[in-house]
Amino acid sequence: MNVADSRRLASALEQLGYEPTRQPTEADVIVLNTCVVRQSAEDKAIGRLSSLRPLKDHNPDLVINLMGCLIGVRGNQKILERFPWVDVVSAPSDPEPLLAYLGQRGAKTSSDAAYQQRNALLDGEIILPKAEQGTLVSAYIPIVYGCSHACTYCIIPLKRGIERSRPYAEILGEAHSLARQGVKEITLLGQIVDRYGLDLPNPTTLAMLLGDLHQIEGIQRIRFLTSHPNWMTDELLEAVQALPKVCPHIEVPIQAGDDDILRAMRRGYTSAAYRQLVAKIRERIPGVSIATDIIVGFPGETDAQFQNTYQLLDDLRMDVAHLARYSPRTGTFSERKMEDDVPDKVKMDRFRRLETLQEEIASEINARLLGKSVPVLFEEKKRGRWRGRTPTNKLVFVDSTEDLLGHERPVRIEWTGPWSMIGMLDSSPLG
Ligand code: SAH
Repeated sequence: MNVADSRRLASALEQLGYEPTRQPTEADVIVLNTCVVRQSAEDKAIGRLSSLRPLKDHNPDLVINLMGCLIGVRGNQKILERFPWVDVVSAPSDPEPLLAYLGQRGAKTSSDAAYQQRNALLDGEIILPKAEQGTLVSAYIPIVYGCSHACTYCIIPLKRGIERSRPYAEILGEAHSLARQGVKEITLLGQIVDRYGLDLPNPTTLAMLLGDLHQIEGIQRIRFLTSHPNWMTDELLEAVQALPKVCPHIEVPIQAGDDDILRAMRRGYTSAAYRQLVAKIRERIPGVSIATDIIVGFPGETDAQFQNTYQLLDDLRMDVAHLARYSPRTGTFSERKMEDDVPDKVKMDRFRRLETLQEEIASEINARLLGKSVPVLFEEKKRGRWRGRTPTNKLVFVDSTEDLLGHERPVRIEWTGPWSMIGMLDSSPLG
């Protein structure tokens, strides 16, 4: 979400005449876009913010914009008092405050230009930042902002506000403009992306949106994340199955495999329901890859309860598991009402056990691709090696002197590990 927000803002700044620099000391404007989903992310944001002070001391004209969840939709007065070198603050996904500030200062722009830019932002039209023009293969499109679910551990609803689906036409407009600029793959984003459209005046669904995005020439692949198990309708699964451009790749977090913990998290489903959903997804979408998220060490989690999560992951054999140790977030229900009573050492131990298990599972799943030919869309070349992904989101590296950027080519897999694989361009037809 932040990558998408930052890209939009970078694009807006370029329209106003600014150019990117890799040197913070050369910058006229610095935007720090922040995440606070766990304490570690917040600490990193605070660290970066602190490191900006000498730049401001050195160059008082420097404009520092603090954006994202460290500010949140309700603002954060304490942060401003603690870090007076911040000039502008903006809520997640909101480029307006910086554009308005720069417009007022008349620094390198007129308020007219800022105004036009704001209008363009509303139409969904996006012009890629210059550094990404002709090189960006895969782009994110936020389709639902905020979240109204209120899982007890989660700070996102407090920081990103209530759920708001973006207008249908605006999303299509953005996808069209990305396609015209050479983007081949789009990933639709939302905290509960499968609730897309339910809050719009004319209710629409993610399945309908996928159908219309599928028509866009140039777009070869479409993904969406993150889904909540309760909103994965048959209509959606059918759309994924029926639309060839929509990748067989589903991200649907379980968070815990124990029913008491799931209840305490207020997730709204049981582990049995989740198992059924996974079975259904696999039945409806042949060859699908499924990713999940798991939090270990939620308040009160016993060894036996953790064991239920371990067993579930062992049984369901997901392609990917994003693991996290519970981190109490200020203002959330669990932080206010529950004691963070699982010791760090135990959290770490549970985390490692799941990590080891997932490493085995992913190794086993990926090894099935050995010797097979898979379609890979290439995104970038780094240290002489092309990097791309399969429709199932497996990372593939290929050594080649050909220009593969933005091309989808069959690759014969020669080595597989838990997190990536290596292959060779395959000249024989896909099979
Ligand atoms: N909206 C999505 C993703 C939320 S953030 C969802 O509900 O699934 C991404 C992941 O961060 C979550 O899936 C969860 O596993 C993790 N996370 C969120 N809050 C957390 C917390 N307080 N401590 C540890 N992990 C957390």
